[in-house]
Amino acid sequence: MSCKKVYITTPIYYVNDSAHIGHAYTTIIADTIARYSKLLGYDTFLLTGTDEHGQKIEQSAKKKGKSPKEYADEISKTFKDLWDDFGIEYDYFIRTTDDKHKQGVKFAFQKMFEKGDIYKGKYSGNYCVSCESFFTDTQLIDGSGCPDCGKETSIIEEESYFFRLSKYQDRLLEHYKNNPDFILPASKRNEVIAFVESGLKDLSITRTSFDWGIKLPENMNEPKHVMYVWLDALLNYLTALGYGGNGEKMDYWPAKIHIVGKDILRFHAIYWPAFLMSLDLPLPHHIGAHGWWTRDGQKMSKSIGNVVKPREVVEAYGLDTFRYFLLREVPFGQDGDFSEKALINRINGDLGNSLGNLLNRVIGMGGKYFNYKFSSDLSLFQNELEKVDDIVSKLESYIFQMQTHRYLEEIWEILAIGNRTIQSSEPWVKIKSNPDEVEALLVFVSNLLVRVSILLYPVMPNSSKKMAEALGIEISPENYDRFIRNRELLNSFEITKIPALFPKVDKPKMGQAPKREEKREIAEEGLITIDKFFEVKIRVGEILEVEEIPKSKKLYRLQVNLGEERPRQIVAGIKEFYKKEELLNTLVCVVANLKPAKLMGHISEGMLLAVRDSQGLSLIRPEHRREVGSPIS
Ligand SMILES: [Zn+2]
Repeated sequence: MSCKKVYITTPIYYVNDSAHIGHAYTTIIADTIARYSKLLGYDTFLLTGTDEHGQKIEQSAKKKGKSPKEYADEISKTFKDLWDDFGIEYDYFIRTTDDKHKQGVKFAFQKMFEKGDIYKGKYSGNYCVSCESFFTDTQLIDGSGCPDCGKETSIIEEESYFFRLSKYQDRLLEHYKNNPDFILPASKRNEVIAFVESGLKDLSITRTSFDWGIKLPENMNEPKHVMYVWLDALLNYLTALGYGGNGEKMDYWPAKIHIVGKDILRFHAIYWPAFLMSLDLPLPHHIGAHGWWTRDGQKMSKSIGNVVKPREVVEAYGLDTFRYFLLREVPFGQDGDFSEKALINRINGDLGNSLGNLLNRVIGMGGKYFNYKFSSDLSLFQNELEKVDDIVSKLESYIFQMQTHRYLEEIWEILAIGNRTIQSSEPWVKIKSNPDEVEALLVFVSNLLVRVSILLYPVMPNSSKKMAEALGIEISPENYDRFIRNRELLNSFEITKIPALFPKVDKPKMGQAPKREEKREIAEEGLITIDKFFEVKIRVGEILEVEEIPKSKKLYRLQVNLGEERPRQIVAGIKEFYKKEELLNTLVCVVANLKPAKLMGHISEGMLLAVRDSQGLSLIRPEHRREVGSPIS
């Protein structure tokens, strides 16, 4: 048996959100590859965990009246509990608030610093608090909106340490070229290469604007700085193995595969290998980026309330069917759509009609005609067996390329051969005239099911164990060797009757996701009703005060009278276009029922209407002076 070591990781999940179908998908792919690897006899280590630092966590905790650690503890536990309940066979659950992790991150920082890859400078940029990312001016939407989440960015200037990412540009490109399957799938690889070719800037890797993060090594004497959350987070793949500590598991490095969502591919395919080069460590074999999930063709969002909660699906339909659906429904790397209808179709079709039916036929006929015991040689089925061997020989490569949909399609081809052979042999007719042939047929089909039960184990561990038990075999690396690698065939079976594995589903079992029919109409026609328009309250206001915000090139802090008890404070990005005196005591139009937001530390309680084109920005104002507070209709 091989002692090859295989290290597989999920991303560590950010503790700002509870688990949704995307988290479950990543984790289940990782678990499937890990189970497969163990079946092959490899010494396998599966890592998952939670990412717990950063400004966003600090702020969310504050809103809930908790310390960041209390808040992180709570959410981290919900992830761990979910994976435990789902039977995910992770070997270690890392938390970035673990002392061991923090120690390892400081060690890495020190090493990169000593190598000359980290230097001190000044950073100024458009920062999105929600995404904890800086964006260039050209990336922003309408001059100030975050390109990822749409929220207002603010300009932050601070002292920062930088990582010399630019130094690694050529080595990265070289690596992508020499290792064509470093980034999977290929379509994503091209995006990354184009990005790196466009030029890499050095990366700001410390912050002084918040506190909830890993401090720099003590000997650097920089108490104000905390590490950029991505540097901290990416290093988890090393610290989990004891890097910077006792290093007890470092022989698992380099990782076989880091599985990530496509939104964080850039961090994993560019920053991470550059950090590793700086640390003189080998790079992972693959970075696999998967797509996103929609529900019933719609983007999932908390405000619509259509987020697919993995627990709800599993409670309604069972864990194995959910795993099967996720891995079968979408080609890896592409976006997938979850709908209850599609799930039910998979259960009744693939699982019930093909797989369940074939097993039931063997159990039914085997019981009725041969009292559950049958034996025969297989000379009658040589052609069919050759076809099956062909399929089996292709399967191993699919899993490590993460082509689970192809892997499952091929397995279903084996089932189709079984069902077709039964259909054409008509055993229910032949049992009188030629019982030996029927007995041989059952031995043949049982052998197919032995292979299928072993091959399906990584995807559907519980159902395939039950199948294997019914057939009288065990699922183990030894049996993988016998029945899959060496294509061994059994000449006799003693089978056991078991209840149907995939009973037919007649009607949906989950609560339906709220459907926004109205919203759909809008999307189709681009029209809204008048009621919809009046949901936005726009009022006329008078600007009473204009103040500059220190360090901000774009923002003014305004006090605007909307005819309410007190003026509203509005932070507006109009400084480049208006002098103070052009604004004082003039009228503006204000969106008055916008949720307050904080911009550069100042609360903003509304938004000014303006128009922007190539000549700049112009406020939208009433043509004639009107009473403050008047609604716009
Ligand atoms: Zn954002």
